[in-house]
Amino acid sequence: MPLDIVILGPPGAGKGTQAELISEDAGIPHINTGDMYRAAVAAGTELGARVKPFMDAGELVPDDLTIAVVRERLSQPDTARGFVLEGFPRTLPQAEALDEILAESDRELSVVLHFQLSDELAEQRLLKRALEQGREDDTPEIIHRRMETMRIPEELVEYYRAKGILVGIHAERTIEEVFAEVQQVLQAAAAR
Ligand code: AMP
Repeated sequence: MPLDIVILGPPGAGKGTQAELISEDAGIPHINTGDMYRAAVAAGTELGARVKPFMDAGELVPDDLTIAVVRERLSQPDTARGFVLEGFPRTLPQAEALDEILAESDRELSVVLHFQLSDELAEQRLLKRALEQGREDDTPEIIHRRMETMRIPEELVEYYRAKGILVGIHAERTIEEVFAEVQQVLQAAAAR
């Protein structure tokens, strides 16, 4: 059974770090739509040109485009044993499309890890990251606004809760502690 994982949570929750650890540990690709879009912009591709205006405005790229990009990525052979998907889905239509894409190859999500931490800590972590990366224009106000636009909609969380595959992860701890909890959850999911 493939291990098909989605990681949900606000920016600053440590999703990327944990997704990398899972990817190495389980030998499955870490797929991040934000990274894919940044790479497309940097490479100057047609996709990059289409998504750049939305990214620059801090808005979501339209669902049909993002869904097409994810559909193509998940058709690659390296996803045969599973994947860790980060940054997608962000809307209910994206979640429904993901289920359809997986169902086409008789697959379904194994688990949805919902990273949870207070807004205060998430904002502190983002501010620290901005300072470390020399992104001085990331002021507390800008970070706060981005957190609001990028908030995971409650209906998305509900969608996965209703399916019984949502697992909350306490993300206010060290990388090692969070990963230990993630590993327990994944072992339980793999055993199902
Ligand atoms: P991120 O690094 O996840 O914050 O993504 C950077 C940008 O890429 C976002 O601000 C959006 O413009 C775009 N993006 C990434 N993932 C998605 C998605 N699932 N749906 C729509 N837009 C996305």
